[in-house]
This record gives sequence, structure tokens and C-alpha cells, in this order.
Amino acid sequence: MTNVQLQVQPAAVSDRPNLLGMDRAALEAFFIAMGEKKFRATQVMKWIHQQGVVDFEQMNNLSKELRSRLAENACISNLEVSRDVISSDGTRKWLLRLADGNHIETVFIPEDDRGTLCVSSQVGCALDCSFCATGRQGFNRNLSSAEIISQVWLASQLLEEEKKPGRKITNVVMMGMGEPLLNFDNTVTAVRLMMDDFAYGLSKRRVTVSTAGVVPAMDRLGDLIDMRLAVSLHATNDELRNELVPVNRKYPLKELMAACRRFIDKQNTRSRITFEYVMLAGVNDQPEHARELVRLLKGIPTLMNLIPFNPFEGSGYSTSSGNAVSRFSRVLHDAGITTVVRKTRGEDIDAACGQLAGRIEDKSRRHRRFTEPRFGMTQ
Ligand code: SAH
Repeated sequence: MTNVQLQVQPAAVSDRPNLLGMDRAALEAFFIAMGEKKFRATQVMKWIHQQGVVDFEQMNNLSKELRSRLAENACISNLEVSRDVISSDGTRKWLLRLADGNHIETVFIPEDDRGTLCVSSQVGCALDCSFCATGRQGFNRNLSSAEIISQVWLASQLLEEEKKPGRKITNVVMMGMGEPLLNFDNTVTAVRLMMDDFAYGLSKRRVTVSTAGVVPAMDRLGDLIDMRLAVSLHATNDELRNELVPVNRKYPLKELMAACRRFIDKQNTRSRITFEYVMLAGVNDQPEHARELVRLLKGIPTLMNLIPFNPFEGSGYSTSSGNAVSRFSRVLHDAGITTVVRKTRGEDIDAACGQLAGRIEDKSRRHRRFTEPRFGMTQ
């Protein structure tokens, strides 16, 4: 494990609008309101997201007058890196400090043919999945679109500074802390920036939003945007799923699978849904569960991701044996379902799936969780 010397400094906190978190439509509206032409939006997007420039003075294709008006009326403000570590396997994790003192985590996972950034959408999470470390922290608040895209901005800049091959973000997965579909608008804005040619230009197959199954928001997402969806399934019947993924009590499996089918039907290109299934020893890893899974997924173009459970203190679960995982994946494979067993990465820096817990500082929020309605859902 290596601790990296910190170089990127955050801009001062400001109450002026933060241009970092505006997608193209919002920036165009911003410039029109200033009495400017709307093409200023794409110029500024390129400066911020492609050149990494956050100082208006350096944006030399804008007039001097516009630059000083921007400096007075807007800001480009990033998160602050409070810890930056690289695992022996090349995985790099950042602990990022928000202006209110909360922390979130972002992870870069290099593989042979890609570099995936795992991005957080909330501080903590309200869904309380029984095997997830973030869930233990409770829900604190949604991230703004600027706080979501800042993770991509910072990671791109800091990876570029490494000046090493294979350290480029080619894919983004919203699989960090939080439930992205319970922070719907800010997630959609950030995803639009990830896919905009004037920002990060990632193709729709390379940006994935992962959900524990917030059905109405899955429908809204499908209406708005063509992209990849991942669904955290983890159980094949309602009784077990109610226990592992409590949001299932609100949106049971039958409704969830119907929403998956509707989502696929709305996509322009033939795409698949990624299903995530964490392998918990003796809980959901038996061949009969695999057979139940095959029945459940019938007719849905699927990429099945089996995730070895990453244990954490007090979780009460243990990781399925290699044998159990291969027996399970064979049943799926024999039924024609594309199945991959996810490799655990960044173990020495606690960067593996479900281990992102940030730094728990606001304990009062955790207490409040139990007195508020069970899920703070707006959908
Ligand atoms: N709320 C979203 C995205 C965040 S979690 C969702 O549920 O999809 C990203 C993935 O990590 C989910 O599939 C989640 O179930 C899984 N995960 C959580 N805790 C884990 C753990 N301890 N071990 C392995 N995977 C875990």
C-alpha cells in the first residue's frame, strides 16, 4: 500500500453557483441568463472536464470581460482529497472531504482492458442491506451533482499525474456509497456529464448505475437516458430478499423483474442488465438458489456478476467457498446465462465492494435513521 502525496487543492467554498455540477443544458441556461451565447457552455465544459482548468482566468478563448464576470458570479469547486492510497494490485482509493465535513470514498480499479471508477452517490445509505458496510453507517445526505462529478474530475486529474499506461478512466460504475436512484436528479445530471462529448465522452455502455431495486426510479431512468443498469439482486425469493435487501418489502421481486423487462424494452440498442449477487455462505449460495435464479431471469438479457462477500467486523456473514461459487456459476452457465465471478480488488486498502464506509462522524444522523420513516424515498 502506498500513501500518495496530495497535490490537488480544493477551491474555497462559495455560495456562487458551482459550474462543475452543471450539465450542458444547465450551463447553456446559465450563459443565456448572463446575456451570453449558449456555445459558451461547451467551451467552459471542455476547459473544466477535459483540460482540468478550474481558474476562469486561464480560459483564454473567453473575453477578459466574461472571465471576470464569471469569477464574480460563479465558481468551480471540487472536493478535498483527505486520503489517497494505492493498493499493491494497482487499485487506488480516495477518501474525499465534503464542504460540510462529511467524507465519501471513490475507487479506481485497473484491469487489462479498462479502468473503472467506482463513484459514490450519497453520504451513507438508507437502504440498510444486511451485508453492506455503508448501510451500517445510516443515511446522512444526498451528494450534489457537483460532488458526484467531482469524483470523476479529481480521479482523472490525479491518475493523469501518475503518467503511467493503463491509468485512464474508461468506465464509471455508480457502485460506491449510497443508492443512486434515491438521489435521482443529481445522478442523472452527473451521468449526462460522464457521457457528454464535451466532458468525459464515455459511451452509454461504459456508464452503469447500480440500484438495489427502486422500481419507480428505474422506470424514470429508462425514460430519460440510454445507459447500463445494474440491479443488486442477492436473493431469489421475497422471504430471503426482504431480509438481505429490505427495500424488497416495498418493491418485491415480481415488480422488480417486471421493471427490468420494461427498462430493456426502452433501450435503443440491444443491451443487457447486469445483476449483482453477493455470495453469502449457507445463505444464498446453494444450487437450488441458482436454479431459482435461472427461472427468475427467464427472458431478460443478463450479465450475471457473482460477488464474493467482503467480510467486515460484526457483519455476521461469511464468504462462500470457491467450490460453492463454482457449483453455483455452473448451474447459471449451463442455463445459458453469461456469468462472471468478480475478483476482489484493493483488499489491503479496504476498497473492495461494500467496504466503503468513509469516516463516520455524524453519529446523530445514524440515531435519527431509526426515528424517521424507514426509507427516505422521494420516488
Ligand atoms: N445501492 C446500490 C449501489 C451501491 S452497492 C446498489 O445496491 O446496487 C454496490 C454493490 O456492492 C451492490 O451490489 C452491493 O450489494 C454490493 N455489496 C455491498 N456490500 C457488500 C459486501 N460486503 N461484499 C460484497 N458486495 C457487497
